[in-house]
Amino acid sequence: NTFAEIDLGEALNQNIRRCKYVKPTPVQRNAIPIVLAGRDLMACAQTGSGKTAAFCFPIISGIMREQYVQRSRGPRTVYPLALILSPTRELSCQIHDEARKFSYQTGVKVVVAYGGAPINQQLRELERGVDILVATPGRLVDLLERARVSLQMIRYLALDEADRMLDMGFEPQIRKIVEQMDMPPPGRRQTMLFSATFPKEIQRLASDFLSNYIFLAV
Ligand code: AMP
Repeated sequence: NTFAEIDLGEALNQNIRRCKYVKPTPVQRNAIPIVLAGRDLMACAQTGSGKTAAFCFPIISGIMREQYVQRSRGPRTVYPLALILSPTRELSCQIHDEARKFSYQTGVKVVVAYGGAPINQQLRELERGVDILVATPGRLVDLLERARVSLQMIRYLALDEADRMLDMGFEPQIRKIVEQMDMPPPGRRQTMLFSATFPKEIQRLASDFLSNYIFLAV
């Protein structure tokens, strides 16, 4: 019933202590081991449940463990290892802030890209290297069309507040994004879908994007 009992690695555990998280929340206690075990996950979880850490911890831990960190740098295309999609600028920035705290001194680099703001600053940030990209769907499609981001190396995909993304009309963008990930090189992509509700549209996304997934309702 502590984070230390979950095998996340010492660097991440230190950051968790720094954040003053003592006990995992129910969604964390259940979701993190499922993802660490390599399974896809569909989780029904509300805001405030601690879902951000539930998907960030196994992503950061997995990237560190597997030493993928052969981060692409440079002026052209970057190849993030993990993608977190969220519906709004505010939520993306919140996830980015948390993910940065969790990845402090791990060598894992987190970058955020959202619409409604000039793209140049975001491009410069991406050029410095990115392991985990947090993005809103529209801005990410723009980056893909400009060939500034490639999703061919994505090992972890998290869709946060998927029901809200669909309500906002992002389904075509999301499908376009996920299509670009379907060339799994050595390892298979692991996908986590988080949604407050589980209507037919979300069930369809789950069956299209997840494979052999575990359903979790907290
Ligand atoms: P979220 O549902 O991810 O938006 O998280 C809601 C709030 O709970 C955020 O302010 C988190 O920093 C905090 N939080 C998440 N997990 C824990 C935990 N295990 N212990 C204490 N606070 C937490």
